[in-house]
Formats: sequence, structure tokens, C-alpha cells
Amino acid sequence: MNTVKSGGSVSLPVVTAKEMEGQIPIEASPFVRFAVLEDLLNAARANSLWPLTFGLACCAIEMMAAGASKYDLDRFGAGVFRPSARQADVMIFAGTISRKMGPVIQQLWDQMPSPKWAIAMGGCTIDGGPFKYPNQYAIYEGADHLVPVDVYIPGCPPRPEALIAGILSLQEKIKKGEKAVSTTQAALVEEKPS
Ligand code: SF4
Repeated sequence: MNTVKSGGSVSLPVVTAKEMEGQIPIEASPFVRFAVLEDLLNAARANSLWPLTFGLACCAIEMMAAGASKYDLDRFGAGVFRPSARQADVMIFAGTISRKMGPVIQQLWDQMPSPKWAIAMGGCTIDGGPFKYPNQYAIYEGADHLVPVDVYIPGCPPRPEALIAGILSLQEKIKKGEKAVSTTQAALVEEKPS
């Protein structure tokens, strides 16, 4: 082992990388030794979700409540609602999806950088909800008609706690590297009684 002078009087030991080789107990550094870069990125992505500031109808009120102080989405790293699609990575469909809004939603989704995720909040975004009836022409009967949806949250409207459960579910999917490509891969979040 070499030494180096500090301040002209004290000698500090210098350990070379070769001397350290094999001296770090494996259990002391498992994260550094075994982590895969993609896992680290997914953990960072899952814990820093930036939803688009975007509401379609009554469910959006519950979404706003989830972001306010009582429920505080910041606890889960998802409270930074962005005013620009170019800065957002989660689109929360919160409300009835009228056909008029279709092209706008598609444009916003296209503007969001990848990787990006979608949450369908409420019955309207799952299958049209109370506005679904034979021969209706005004709404999309589900957000999956526009984008691949990662998590579905039932309810009319779902409470803020249900949205939080949906976000936690999405975080788990992201950490596992899962991404919806069709509706069949979406997670269904059970609505908890309030
Ligand atoms: S699911 Fe119910 S509360 Fe939500 S937007 Fe549709 S009608 Fe409104």
C-alpha cells in the first residue's frame, strides 16, 4: 500500500484498484454489481411520471383532487402535471371521449416523447360508460380506440384513491418493463369501496 502526504504532515493510505479487488463483500454492493441499465432506467421512469394536464369530463375533477394536497400525488413522484405534451409521459384519460376530441387527443399523444403510457380513468374511457347505447355516434367507446392503454380504472367516477392505485399499478408495470400494445395486456385495477 502506498501513502500520500496531506497538508504536508499527515500521510494518508492510498489503496489501488488492484489491491481492492475481491475485498468488497458481495452483499455490500449487490445493486452496483448486478443491476442492469434498463432496470435502473425503468425504476427512474416509474418514480418520476409526468402526467399531461388534460381532462375530458367529470372524472377530471377526481384527477385534480388526486393531485391536490389531501391526496398529494407528489408522494408517488407523479404530481408534476405538465402543460405541454412534449414534457409529459403519461396521458390520463379522465372523462368522456367525444369524437370531436379524437384528432386532438391523437395529436397530443403523438407529441409525447417515448416511452409513454396511458391510463383510462372511469367507465367512459373503458367502454363508453353511461353514454354507450345502440347507434350512438358521439363518443369513442373506450380510450383504446385511440391509444394503447396500460391501466384501466373502473368507476363513475373513480375516487382519487383509485387513481392512485392505478398509478401504483402502472409503476409496477414500468419497473417490469411491460408496455401495453393492445387492450388485452392492460391491467384492471379493482375499485376499492370508499
Ligand atoms: S365515468 Fe362517469 S364520472 Fe367519469 S366522465 Fe364518465 S360519466 Fe363522468
